[in-house]
Amino acid sequence: MKAHDGLYIDGAWRPAASADAIDVVNPADEQVIGRVPAGGAADVDAAVRAARAALPGWAATPPAERAARLTALRDALVARKDEIAETVTAELGSPLPFSQAVHAAVPIAVAGSYAELAAAHSFEEKVGNSTVLAEPVGVVGAITPWNYPLHQIVAKVAPALAAGCTVVLKPAEDTPLTAQLFAEAVHEAGVPAGVFNLVTGLGPVAGQALAEHPDVDLVSFTGSTAVGRQIGAVAGAAVKRVALELGGKSANVILPSADLARAVNVGVANVMSNSGQTCSAWTRMLVHRDRYDEAVELARTAAVKYGDRIGPVVSAKQRARVRGYIEKGVAEGARLVTGGPESPHEKGYFVSPTVFADVTPEMAIAQEEIFGPVLAILPYDDEEDALRIANGTVYGLAGAVWAADEAEAVAFARRMDTGQVDINGGRFNPLAPFGGYKQSGVGRELGAHGLAEYLQTKSLQF
Ligand code: NAP
Ligand code: MG
Repeated sequence: MKAHDGLYIDGAWRPAASADAIDVVNPADEQVIGRVPAGGAADVDAAVRAARAALPGWAATPPAERAARLTALRDALVARKDEIAETVTAELGSPLPFSQAVHAAVPIAVAGSYAELAAAHSFEEKVGNSTVLAEPVGVVGAITPWNYPLHQIVAKVAPALAAGCTVVLKPAEDTPLTAQLFAEAVHEAGVPAGVFNLVTGLGPVAGQALAEHPDVDLVSFTGSTAVGRQIGAVAGAAVKRVALELGGKSANVILPSADLARAVNVGVANVMSNSGQTCSAWTRMLVHRDRYDEAVELARTAAVKYGDRIGPVVSAKQRARVRGYIEKGVAEGARLVTGGPESPHEKGYFVSPTVFADVTPEMAIAQEEIFGPVLAILPYDDEEDALRIANGTVYGLAGAVWAADEAEAVAFARRMDTGQVDINGGRFNPLAPFGGYKQSGVGRELGAHGLAEYLQTKSLQF
């Protein structure tokens, strides 16, 4: 795989001040496929200075011209879509068709949506005798994870650029090559020097330096709740804006009237895709006691079919974490229906699609984010019980409700403490606000709500 040995700062690839490096590993065969710089505090500082210097010019650029750069960025991503999919497959391990259909295609759609929003958004409104201006927040520090490596970058950088902000990105150490490809696309799109900067590096070094940098106005973070909590605390102390997109333990609520086979099959696919490494995955399936055994058998059959079709998880560390949870589920007394902690292959960080039945709401596998191909099926007695279980975690990112009657499903969804609910298998919408209730986060990404995160308002009175 092609890897730059520099950092993209102020419009060019430049050597890092730090001599440290990150080896990028293919999780399917454990081979090193590239090496990138592990930037340090001095590199983050250089990138923030470039972003600060570029801010006045970019903020003053007419929205139509910012929209034109975003259209060019979308086009540059389209031109590289095969390279993007191959790179994500190489460093994340997802099967190539999934990388093409999701990891490459979704960010292209999101970049396109922000090209349109930048052109259409009204950055000024009249309120009585005031004119309210929507101005860019300033320099954005973006810290992203590896699970949807390009999507999570674009979901921050595209609205930030649309708003007139400048950006320093610290991507996940496991997937820096995708981030480098994105920087190349930004460059090709003619985005002015310093508007976007990339510092590859380690979380506790480059990530922390970026989150703590006094000249960063907004920190936008996606990742674990543990790190998000720290970043929120640092931002709070400095009175700077923060957006946190954290974990989830989303409920797939199958009401008694639902088409059970469809709800279970779509539910299993939702959990197993991307090897379970999706923050919004419906990792808890809630089924009425009367149809419980039937649902467990359907889920087992569906999961077994995934067998070898899911890729590995991203790293040895992540595989150890997922195996630990599977062992914990067994120890807690849940019934292992299929899968288990053993590796299905000698090489690569694979975990078998795993289904647990007889899971009770207080078990760790029903409360904590596992981030692997592991589904927990819980029985409920009645609708109130289902609601209590669905709302009974610290998280609230996503969810699903299935019922014969759409209105019945919607009535249940209104009572769920969560940021998104798919009704009877509703499709992903790249314009719908995405983000968490409770400890799943602060703020919203995507669409007009995502753009608003990067704006601050000023009122002029006449
Ligand atoms: P993570 O440590 O929270 O990583 C997310 C990003 O934050 C990465 O770029 C990471 O850098 C960086 N980071 C780590 N420590 C930091 C610090 N002290 N200050 C600033 N930035 C820091 O998540 P992870 O280790 O990749 O995954 C652990 C668990 O988090 C997963 O098992 C999963 O449960 C959850 N997770 C959730 C999401 C989500 O979309 N909500 C995404 C990924 C993971 P490094 O890459 O160098 O660590
Ligand atoms: Mg980490």
